[in-house]
Amino acid sequence: MKRVYNFSAGPGAIPEWVLEKAASEMLCYGESGQSVMEMSHRSRVYEEIIANTEKLLRELMNIPDNYKVLFLQGGASTQFAAVPLNLMKTGKADYVITGQFSKKAANEAKRYGDVKIVADTNDKNNTYIPKLTKADFRPDADYVHICFNNTIYGTTWQYIPDTGDVPLVADMSSFILSEPIDVSKFGLIYAGAQKNMGPAGLTVVIVREDLLGNAKDFTPTMLNYQVMADNGSMYNTPPTYSIYICGLVLQWLKEQIGGLEKMKEQNHKKANKLYDFIDASKLYKNPNNKEDRSMMNVTFVTGDADLDKEFVAAADAAGFVNIKGHRSVGGMRASIYNAMTPEGVDKLIDFMADFEKSH
Ligand SMILES: *Cc1c(COP(=O)(O)O)cnc(C)c1O
Repeated sequence: MKRVYNFSAGPGAIPEWVLEKAASEMLCYGESGQSVMEMSHRSRVYEEIIANTEKLLRELMNIPDNYKVLFLQGGASTQFAAVPLNLMKTGKADYVITGQFSKKAANEAKRYGDVKIVADTNDKNNTYIPKLTKADFRPDADYVHICFNNTIYGTTWQYIPDTGDVPLVADMSSFILSEPIDVSKFGLIYAGAQKNMGPAGLTVVIVREDLLGNAKDFTPTMLNYQVMADNGSMYNTPPTYSIYICGLVLQWLKEQIGGLEKMKEQNHKKANKLYDFIDASKLYKNPNNKEDRSMMNVTFVTGDADLDKEFVAAADAAGFVNIKGHRSVGGMRASIYNAMTPEGVDKLIDFMADFEKSH
């Protein structure tokens, strides 16, 4: 068996330690005599799995007690609707657009209320993060929404914008667990699991308790945070197996990596090595504002679309897969989430250097 170096933007690579542990427990979890997939979500053994997953997440992210953790379905895209449905108390929200996902989120919210686009970085092809202050936001907005790491363009907020008393909502799908973040600065954080938390099918919402209870009357029950919180994410069948794998990823982060500070150190080292190589090379370029670069999604181009194509094909043949840029921007993108090893990044750099020499 030969495993590839997987630079997919999502679903992304999962640590081998997790896959091996899951494989060893596939037919029989503990003493249960069954796979986690086959278990009743109401069984004691599964209740322990979900409780332990939440406990590990709270511990790793240092989530304050006045926040609920919800294990939901529907992906981050469902949250584009769930957020306004639950948080638009008076019907006003401010959105910052820094890429396609935040634009989709804003468009979805427009269906439910008055949405103000505070800034839109499309004017420079989303190569930067705007510098915003409290004065940029409406003080009577119900919330401000940002996308913390732009998976497609490869930029990240390097600061948490000051929104005053207005709750800050962040899509952290491609950022969560990559480094420590002060949860108390946010009203709500959501993330699809398939970038840094585990397999697709699970969406995590971390929400401050005082924001619950304001859902619009017509909010579907399944999208109502209060209902999900009251039922411990078990109003219906939760994505049981994805939650279990997420628990293993969290265990790996804690025991094998040593927590989010350590993860950050490793992630920054990986990304900076790759950016330094790109900046020094004559062939490759990263188009983004240096200080706004993402540590998770590293985009680069050769400046020649045909050569980009050739690069992607050669990389694929050499075992560096899913490195093609998003279909809307072209070029290349190496997504180097937590599970991408430093060795994988070193090997990619060697490959890029060889390709540059021969082209
Ligand atoms: C991948 C991604 C999404 C879309 O997630 P789905 O789970 O496919 O709905 C939304 N936002 C960000 C930042 C992403 O990276």
